Amino acid sequence: SLRCGIVGLPNVGKSTLFNAITAKQAEAANYPFCTIEPNVGTVLVPDERMQLIADVVKTPTLVPATLEIVDIAGLVRGASKGEGLGNQFLSHIREVDAIVHVVRCFDDSNIIHVEGKIDPADDIATIDTELMLADLDSMERRIEKLRKNARKEKDLLLQVELAERIITGLSEGVPARAIIQSPEEKELARQFFLLTSKPILYAANVGEADLPDGNAYTGRVAEIAAESGSMMLIISAKSEADIAELPEEERPEFLESLGLDMSGLDRVIKTAYDLLGLQTYFTAGEKEVHAWTIRKGAAAPEAAGAIHSDFEKGFIRAEVMSYRDLIELGSEQKVKEAGKLRSEGRDYIVRDGDVIVFRFNV
Ligand code: GDP
Repeated sequence: SLRCGIVGLPNVGKSTLFNAITAKQAEAANYPFCTIEPNVGTVLVPDERMQLIADVVKTPTLVPATLEIVDIAGLVRGASKGEGLGNQFLSHIREVDAIVHVVRCFDDSNIIHVEGKIDPADDIATIDTELMLADLDSMERRIEKLRKNARKEKDLLLQVELAERIITGLSEGVPARAIIQSPEEKELARQFFLLTSKPILYAANVGEADLPDGNAYTGRVAEIAAESGSMMLIISAKSEADIAELPEEERPEFLESLGLDMSGLDRVIKTAYDLLGLQTYFTAGEKEVHAWTIRKGAAAPEAAGAIHSDFEKGFIRAEVMSYRDLIELGSEQKVKEAGKLRSEGRDYIVRDGDVIVFRFNV
């Protein structure tokens, strides 16, 4: 399953956000999740389309896509050199697909800031530096071996060349994501397990009064995100915790009073999904409506593989309709009669919101 790691300096609101996520997770208790480590929460990817499809196919059961959120504590200045929890946190970050970086954008003299002042640009630089130092350290250890092996295996020369460019970049303060560009480079760099190649979503944490538009601090975060091609959201971790405690039916009104149409948590989840280049297709029947997560650009057999690897191997064809047609016309039969149920082959590129039945050999 996909994983997002929450990072940030101490006292910026990570645990508050994570606890709000965990509270929401409890509501999803009737979904078939395994319970995992205490610092990992599973959240449902919100998708309004599922209920609409369920109404048409008449099933009470929705199985949404999920995302794992990991609370990664212990990142402080000097962490890459063993300060704080030291290197422990690094292994957790290596395992995530995307990073949610919580940045403190609220003033509160009762809550100590580790650096003694509220300065989002400085905080972001501190964390970025630790991650770059950790990557530099691991690449320098890797390159000697790579060079040696490349003398025997010429295929490795491309890897060596990329590794050298990454090392040069990191020494100059350039994160790996700015260096690794083409799909080929991305493929080559996979085995480097870099921290600074992961996509980042900045979550600028403000007090309730600064929702929804933020403040001067969030303006600074927005600039930094824009410069580095990252995404950013303004959230209030504290308000999220309040929302999580409210009964479901009272939430819309509360959100509206804050000037929001969706909880910050749901925005984080949706944005992370986009950030990772993911989309959803559905399978739908009397048993359940099920959302499946695939890459944007995935062809039909790969999409089938999200359900089971046998579906991918034995793929014959896909019967596809758009969820819009299904909802508008009211049944699969009517979609078929209208000539809008398509039979697609191996080369079909699945679209977001497709409702699919796969035909396959076992
Ligand atoms: P972490 O160390 O990053 O996990 O930070 P915590 O989530 O434990 O938050 C540190 C303190 O800041 C807690 O006392 C929170 O209640 C408080 N806090 C979090 N967000 C806000 C906020 O938006 N405004 C204010 N005033 N306090 C906040």
